[in-house]
Amino acid sequence: MNAPQEQVIKMYAKREEIYPREIDGRYARLRWLFVWLTQLAFYCTPWLQWNGRQALLFDLTTRKFYIFGLVLWPQDFIYLAALLIISAYLLFLATAIAGRVWCGFACPQTVYTEIFLWIERKIEGQRSARIALDRQPPSLRKYAKKSAKHLAWGAVALWTGFTFVGYFTPITELMGEVVTLNFGPWEWFWVLFYGFATYGNAGWMREQVCKYMCPYARFQSSMFDRDTLIITYDSQRGEPRGPLSKNTHGNGGSCIDCSLCVQVCPTGIDIRHGLQYECIGCAACVDACNNVMDKTGQARGLIRYSTERAMEDHMTPTEIRRRAMRPRVKIYTAVLGLIVLATCSALFLRTPLKLDVIRDRGSMGREVEDGMIENVYRLQIMNTSEKAHLYKIAVGGLPTLAQATADHVMVEATETKAYPVRLRVAHGTGQTGSNKIQVTLTAVDDPSLHVKESAVFIVPR
Ligand code: SF4
Ligand code: SF4
Repeated sequence: MNAPQEQVIKMYAKREEIYPREIDGRYARLRWLFVWLTQLAFYCTPWLQWNGRQALLFDLTTRKFYIFGLVLWPQDFIYLAALLIISAYLLFLATAIAGRVWCGFACPQTVYTEIFLWIERKIEGQRSARIALDRQPPSLRKYAKKSAKHLAWGAVALWTGFTFVGYFTPITELMGEVVTLNFGPWEWFWVLFYGFATYGNAGWMREQVCKYMCPYARFQSSMFDRDTLIITYDSQRGEPRGPLSKNTHGNGGSCIDCSLCVQVCPTGIDIRHGLQYECIGCAACVDACNNVMDKTGQARGLIRYSTERAMEDHMTPTEIRRRAMRPRVKIYTAVLGLIVLATCSALFLRTPLKLDVIRDRGSMGREVEDGMIENVYRLQIMNTSEKAHLYKIAVGGLPTLAQATADHVMVEATETKAYPVRLRVAHGTGQTGSNKIQVTLTAVDDPSLHVKESAVFIVPR
């Protein structure tokens, strides 16, 4: 009997350079549409103005998030959490229906790799020219091309880092600091860090990020089922593969073994071997194969979007679409709809005024002139609107309760004000110890803008 063969499985395979061939087709155009939309949104949004300030700004110094007409404070963290939950749910829903559609079309790693590849092609040429250039011995021409490419990549990466920081520091101020090279240490750090990450991930690492670093790639397969759309090679139709001369004589399958589907693949895999975890669902191989089918006069769709069930049961596109709305997808959609509805309602009903009533613990209730009992408080007033308001302070909950301080306070737009107030009751009012009272704040120019908070009034023995 033969001894069992020892097999070595490598945890990390040495990287082989991939030179994806440029491809034109429906999905390539769709991907470029996403590149334009996402990058226009990313690079332009920080420059938009709203009410004389940056429309979208996550101001960490003052801990206020400006989102067009909305100003969120640390107390509004729930809305940001809801936004993250909605984004995650959208991703889950898209994955359950169309597999790695996010990875293939909209993920920043895919989008920046596409931009960096475009620069590479413009400078070094198409696939064969790039392979030839890399195999050439060092020369002035080779260094010139490589330097030009890295300079262009570096410029895009630094501008990306600068734009990223512009979401946290007003970008017009940042621009002024660029001109005078007067960046603060944190701004330098984040511009360089984000720029370096973009340069490294899209220029050098590319498919390695998807294969080894991306956590989402690891667990998204748990959201797949037999009705999830995946990129599939129709082996029943394609095999036995062989040269065109053999196939057109009716002895072979539709695949003419041109290897174009492998040459265009950004992760360098052969989809004809079946679904592999490296496949990011970019559909470049679908475009490549459809072009080949057109040229050879065969029906498109040898490589196509389909589902595991559809391949086994020979389902039609209509049947595939019908299966897409399965219970799991309906549940995801319903939960997502509920979260969106709840978040929008909460935002719509949100009062742009917050009040905390903090009793001065240093001074318990004390007797003052005329035998009155006095308690001291600090009102923490947050005007979260973008307009200054004069507020009227009203108190209630105990007979004879009155204010010994001014009962109007002005708070500027998006400001927090700490306002001390002294409240008094006549001797003999309330019970000894704690008495519940209410403090109400009402905007003078808009009585619908009001907030009420409870507090405790201490009557000493
Ligand atoms: S592109 Fe189509 S025909 Fe060419 S090798 Fe791939 S599957 Fe076969
Ligand atoms: S196999 Fe096709 S869909 Fe998958 S990554 Fe490669 S080219 Fe994209």
